[in-house]
Amino acid sequence: MFTVNAYAATSATGPLVPTTIERRDLGPDDVAIDIRFCGICHSDIHTARSEWGPTRYPLVVGHEITGVVREVGSAVTKFAVGDRVGVGCMVDSCRECDNCRNGLEQYCLKGNVGTYGGVGRDGEPTQGGYAQAIVVAEDFVLRIPDGIELDAAAPLLCAGVTTYSPLRHWNARPGRRVAVVGMGGLGHMAVKLAHAMGAEVTVLSQSLKKREDGLRLGADHYHATSDEDTFTTLAGSFDLIINTVSATVDVNAYLGLLAVDGTLVNVGAPEEPLSVRAFSLIPARRSLAGSVIGGIAETQEMLDFCAEHGLGAEVEVVPAEKINEAYERVLASDVRYRFVIDASTF
Ligand code: NAP
Ligand code: ZN
Ligand code: ZN
Repeated sequence: MFTVNAYAATSATGPLVPTTIERRDLGPDDVAIDIRFCGICHSDIHTARSEWGPTRYPLVVGHEITGVVREVGSAVTKFAVGDRVGVGCMVDSCRECDNCRNGLEQYCLKGNVGTYGGVGRDGEPTQGGYAQAIVVAEDFVLRIPDGIELDAAAPLLCAGVTTYSPLRHWNARPGRRVAVVGMGGLGHMAVKLAHAMGAEVTVLSQSLKKREDGLRLGADHYHATSDEDTFTTLAGSFDLIINTVSATVDVNAYLGLLAVDGTLVNVGAPEEPLSVRAFSLIPARRSLAGSVIGGIAETQEMLDFCAEHGLGAEVEVVPAEKINEAYERVLASDVRYRFVIDASTF
């Protein structure tokens, strides 16, 4: 075992505080990674504050990790010391169920092992990426292509794949009209990715404050959801809507924006239930769906796609001591468009 500096949540209401944690000894297929950057995902905040049910404290969150391999186990074949790598939301799964065999580890029938808040192979609670280093089985380590800087790459490990996966699954491509609700961490990646896939992209944001950015990132249209007219003007006009909002929204209003056979995919994960009227779906054969991150092979595919298209996240790099301040800014929708922690400051 080795000890690393980290930041942990210790209660649902208090700030994250500096601490130290132990990382397990390297097993034969393990990779030890010196973390360089870790993104701040809204899921970190939901979890740190016990918004999805009770969190076991102390907990180090963070699942948008990039860094450099510092040591490899004796049986590791895919990585060598010095490689640029990433770790996303999962660090293991059963590897045997139908979903794992089909590259859908995120839907492992026995439950994947979360990068934080799960149980590691040493039987200890997993602790995430707000730390100096991490040890992960090589099958759950991603390769960061040369063309992407490690800070801009970090958010791809969650925000990137969480939007890439439904865009691919529901066929974002030329001729398809895609709307992205909420332009935060996930939303801004959805805009970039959907544009790179050739779709016609519309942002639906609370206001027009970030309009210039949205258009620069690849949106063709940008509307404010605070404007009632938006919902009448755009009625029935999208094939796919990706809802990335971290709070509860009126799903019925967004379903009304779908064309016949359109799908609203919820990736935003507020704790309250969604309330759906049957008549929001029936008149146009609409679907309401959900999606969680992406599989490991798909995550690598997304990273390679981003490198090919020159994409990374728009990041604001912050030192560890600014994590709590960054949380407040994320909660105020004041993020442009992902905070990324400089791990050299832990
Ligand atoms: P984020 O950076 O905070 O972005 C959320 C955006 O939603 C905000 O920037 C804001 O965009 C909009 N928004 C916030 N509060 C709102 C409100 N009350 N009404 C309307 N719009 C509001 O968060 P994120 O990191 O992208 O995560 C978004 C959600 O996805 C979170 O719930 C997170 O837990 C979840 N998530 C799910 C998965 C998955 O696998 N399904 C993976 C990662 C994250 P505008 O300012 O443009 O309106
Ligand atoms: Zn996340
Ligand atoms: Zn499985």
